[in-house]
Amino acid sequence: MHAHGEVKEGRVKNIYNLGLKELPLKQMIEEFYRVEVSIRNDAKCAGLAEKRYGSLQNYEDAVFLCLGTGIGGATFFNGELIKPHRNAGSEYGHMVIQKENGIPCKCGRTGCFEKYCSMKAFKEKVKKILNLPETIEAREIIQAITDNRQNEELTQYIEKYINDLYIGIANIVKIIEPQAISLGGSFIYYKDILYTKLLEKAEEQKNLVEMPKIVLASLGNDAGMIGAVLE
Ligand SMILES: [Zn+2]
Repeated sequence: MHAHGEVKEGRVKNIYNLGLKELPLKQMIEEFYRVEVSIRNDAKCAGLAEKRYGSLQNYEDAVFLCLGTGIGGATFFNGELIKPHRNAGSEYGHMVIQKENGIPCKCGRTGCFEKYCSMKAFKEKVKKILNLPETIEAREIIQAITDNRQNEELTQYIEKYINDLYIGIANIVKIIEPQAISLGGSFIYYKDILYTKLLEKAEEQKNLVEMPKIVLASLGNDAGMIGAVLE
C-alpha cells in the first residue's frame, strides 16, 4: 500500500500533514487484517510507476515530483530508485527555498518548498485572491483563473508561483543532475495554466541552469496504486 510521510521498514515517520511523528503502520494493518503487507511512501509508488510504465521510462537518471497536498519525490539513478540507509530520502518538499521570513512548515522549519509550490498552497492562494468558496473543484478553480486573466494580483501571484517552482526544480537539478524530471500529483490538472509557463521560465534561464527534460506524469491518479505493487 502507499502512504504519506517517510516510510522505512514498515514504520511511517514525519507525516506532517496529519501531525504524526511516527506510526507502526505495517504492524497495525497486519494485526488487523492478518495478512502480510509492505508499505511505501505514496510519491515513491507513483514515481516507480512513472519510471516503469509512464513518463520516465526512457530515462535512467530521473526525478519524480508529486505536487499535491505537499511535495513528495522519488529519485532514480541508473534506473534504480534511491533508497538511503537512514530515512526514505527525496523529501524535496522540505527543501528551504525562502530563507528570510519563510512560511512556517509543520516539519518545524520555515520557507519549505511545499509551503510555496504544493497544489494545496497554490489553490489556497488563488481562492483567497479571487474570493472563491472554500470547497471548490479543480475545474472550477481553473475556470475562475481563465475568467480572471486580467486580474493583476492573480497574474503576479502565478508569476511568483512559477518562479518559486523553478527555483526548487533548479536546485534539484544542480544536485541530482537527472536526465528528466516528471511532475505529477494534482499539478497535472493545472497544466494548461502552469506547465507552459514553467517551460518558458526554464528556457529564459537556460544560460544559468541547464535544465533536463521537464515532463508531465502520464499515469494520472492510478500511478500510486500501480507503483504500490512494483518491485
Ligand atoms: Zn518543511
